[in-house]
Amino acid sequence: MAIAPLSSSKLSASNSKSQSCDAVIIDGKQVAADVIESVKSRRAMADIVPGLAVILVGNDAASSVYVRNKSAKAEECGFASQQFDLPVDTSEQEVLELINSLNNDTNIHGILVQLPLPKQIDSHQVIQSIAPEKDVDGFHYLNTGKLTTGDTNDALVPCTPAGSIQLIKSVMGASELSGKHAVVVGRSNIVGKPMASLLLQENCTVTVIHSRTNNPGEICRQADIVVAAVGIPNFIKEGWIKQGAVVIDVGINRITTDEGKTKLVGDVDFENVRSKVSAITPVPGGVGPMTISMLMQNTLDAAIRGKNLITKES
Ligand code: NAP
Repeated sequence: MAIAPLSSSKLSASNSKSQSCDAVIIDGKQVAADVIESVKSRRAMADIVPGLAVILVGNDAASSVYVRNKSAKAEECGFASQQFDLPVDTSEQEVLELINSLNNDTNIHGILVQLPLPKQIDSHQVIQSIAPEKDVDGFHYLNTGKLTTGDTNDALVPCTPAGSIQLIKSVMGASELSGKHAVVVGRSNIVGKPMASLLLQENCTVTVIHSRTNNPGEICRQADIVVAAVGIPNFIKEGWIKQGAVVIDVGINRITTDEGKTKLVGDVDFENVRSKVSAITPVPGGVGPMTISMLMQNTLDAAIRGKNLITKES
């Protein structure tokens, strides 16, 4: 996994924070914009046009928006983006055939299948059929295996945890991270588990909380760093947080307010927790913008590795 150059990270650290009453509110939009700037300049220096293929099956409204945003960001970065909008009744075989042709297409460096897929398609089969070197979501076994074993030099790391660690690094140096107790709430393959691996790699002492954990509040209260990825609005309460902790809220939950309006909230009770922490990500505007930026970074890294491989072989 390529981390943004030090100068850029330092810059984002000073530019990305705005002081609230007590806590630093980590500005995910600014850090994400810094990552995109770094992607654009690295792409220009490498003189390549990374190809990103985005596959959407069906017409789920939220998925359509995500896919459109990803394609638009790819264009903005100077990538060649191809979007495949397939009908909802597409068979698994048809998706596998499309992926096979993209795996063999030398102009395509990244392949992304928007989840969830319609029920006739086994997402597991589909994800594992993507060539690992083009798996820009980082969900292929080879990439998850590399991450777990700490062999991340040429691994593609899942975008949301990769973005979350970048946000932590915008307020804490690598030496500060070392030895800290990090608690990850949630153990999904997409967020919780890779997040725990990334924190371990930073020499944190990591505890993972899940739905069967006894006394989660007590464990969470010991944490210097809390990463919440549960999917339950305002699940992490003030009493679960140690004074001065850094809190990263991955959750995106749509709720209806008392006034009948819909609103996005995280997994952390932001308003009550913020006075206790040293730094916290807001929802929206925290982890969310990072995910798409890290996807662009993964696609560029995949394209650069592909180019280097061709140069070496010729
Ligand atoms: P998920 O697959 O549903 O996993 C949720 C995890 O939370 C599971 O490991 C579950 O434990 C755990 N959990 C559920 N109830 C719990 C409880 N009462 N106590 C402790 N742990 C509990 O969700 P996900 O995909 O990881 O996503 C988590 C959140 O992040 C969602 O709000 C999602 O929308 C958001 N998200 C945001 C982004 C982004 O770009 N910002 C990207 C991905 C996800 P078990 O394993 O025991 O069931």
